[in-house]
Amino acid sequence: MELPFHSPEEREEWYKFECPKCGKKDEVPGFVIDEFAMGKDLKEGEMPGVACPECNAEMKFRYTFKKEPY
Ligand SMILES: [Zn+2]
Repeated sequence: MELPFHSPEEREEWYKFECPKCGKKDEVPGFVIDEFAMGKDLKEGEMPGVACPECNAEMKFRYTFKKEPY
C-alpha cells in the first residue's frame, strides 16, 4: 500500500470523539479515520463508527482539530 505524501510542514488533522456512555474522550488521527472509512460506503462528511476503548460503545464525533507535528 502506498502512503500518501505529506509535506513536513503540513499539520495532521485529528478527530475528537466522546463516548456517550462513559464520557471517555478520545483523539484519533485523520489517517486512522481514513482507514476506518475505507471499504465502507460512507457519504461525504459521514463518520465511520469508532468504538470506545473503555466500554466499547460507539463514540460520538465532536470536532476536528490540527496538531503540530513534533
Ligand atoms: Zn465508553
